[in-house]
Amino acid sequence: MFLPSFRHLIEIEALKIQNQTVLSKIAYEEKRISDLEAIRLKRELEAIALSEEDKNLKLFTSQQEIESKQLKITRMKSQLDMVTSQKEQHALETQLLLMQKELDTLEEKYFLNLERHEAIEVEKKDGQTFLTGSLISLEEIKKDVDSIRLKFQSAIAGRLERISSLEVMCDEKLKTFYLELEKKFAPKRPVAYLIDKKCTQCHMQVDSVFKASLEEGRSFETCPNCSRLLIPDTAKIY
Ligand SMILES: [Zn+2]
Repeated sequence: MFLPSFRHLIEIEALKIQNQTVLSKIAYEEKRISDLEAIRLKRELEAIALSEEDKNLKLFTSQQEIESKQLKITRMKSQLDMVTSQKEQHALETQLLLMQKELDTLEEKYFLNLERHEAIEVEKKDGQTFLTGSLISLEEIKKDVDSIRLKFQSAIAGRLERISSLEVMCDEKLKTFYLELEKKFAPKRPVAYLIDKKCTQCHMQVDSVFKASLEEGRSFETCPNCSRLLIPDTAKIY
């Protein structure tokens, strides 16, 4: 006579589904936390790389090079006024031209780097805004999860206790079979109900002999199609 065990299984299933709902809510929030933490870490690494890139632009050094080059050119130009021979003048002019070219190259590089530096500043600021904002969200989600855990902790423990006591009352063979099936179907539930000769999960129809045997609690059966343990609807009102 399996009807009392079937009735216990109905209650066990309901309790397990309630626990599963809470636990999956917690798992969902935990996934949000770890996803956000991963993104934050990535952004933190990006910020470090940006600072490193900014440092390597060596803007200050370039500025000094430009200034010293400008100073040399100014000096050389004043020398130009003092030269006596044409040959000397020509040599100085050639050198000046060369230095001016070098100065142009230095300035061109400097302004390009300055542009990049400004872009980096914007990127770093965006990154910082994200990191500050996401830290607040992260702490809020963590607080939510903690309060969910705290709120449902005793309810979950209470249900687990009730499940254990119900399992003790179940037919040993049926219970063993149910627990094995539960592992096999995880994370889905391993049971379905037989209502109007049909499996509630896959709608497979069974014959009258099958139905009668199950409903009278003479045997326990799995659905011929989806292999779930079939609990007769009659067990609910047994
Ligand atoms: Zn089925």
